[in-house]
Amino acid sequence: MLKLQDVTKIYAGKSEVNALAGITLAISAGEMVAIMGPSGSGKSTLLNLLGGLDVPTSGQVIVAGTDLAMESEKGRSLFRRTGVSYIFQAYHLMPTLRVSQNVALPLHLAGMATKEIETKVARALKEVGLESRGGHLPDELSGGERQRVAIARALVTDAPLLLADEPTGNLDSARGEEILQLLKRINCERGTTIVIVTHDHNAASACARLIKLRDGRVEGDSAVAGGVA
Ligand code: ADP
Repeated sequence: MLKLQDVTKIYAGKSEVNALAGITLAISAGEMVAIMGPSGSGKSTLLNLLGGLDVPTSGQVIVAGTDLAMESEKGRSLFRRTGVSYIFQAYHLMPTLRVSQNVALPLHLAGMATKEIETKVARALKEVGLESRGGHLPDELSGGERQRVAIARALVTDAPLLLADEPTGNLDSARGEEILQLLKRINCERGTTIVIVTHDHNAASACARLIKLRDGRVEGDSAVAGGVA
């Protein structure tokens, strides 16, 4: 599903920053993987490459058979719309849109017919347990509920890859645990490949595999006892 081969990322500037210094790893379809590491170790840079938001300085970033490093901006933009979905620490919902409109947004952008959008949005909201909240505005919901809306928005396109950037970072541990259980269920039931960047040890132990980064390199890569298999 995902393959990184000798990936480096150097940010040019006054002084060059070697954010990724030669990463080689493979993630199979259906895996649920946590990426941890100290601040500045390259986690966000790695996630941006996997999501087709940025390209490496050298190396290959192969997602579902396509080397994103070699793709045109147009090709990567298509991948971003159909091949991958994101959730973020701060949810990134549109505050003026109702819950169902937020979830529908990626489908509207893809030009899908209204009837089909309604069916898919209803299904996604049911999957995250918010079928009765479609008419609410985001600020009428709790943090955990907002993150579930963001997850519904990520599910609605049926992308095979879900990238999560600190998904429990704004939540208390009980709410965070609910989000992790939901992600685990999605991973099991839909077979979605999930990559979670996190500082949260609970989030890491919800995953089957933990990749540790340090100074832009893979410092550790191991199975997590008790994680999803
Ligand atoms: P993490 O997510 O683990 O905190 P990052 O991937 O954000 O790490 O950053 C890795 C390194 O790259 C850091 O030294 C950071 O300062 C640097 N960096 C990140 N983004 C940029 C950028 N756009 N321009 C220059 N340096 C950057």
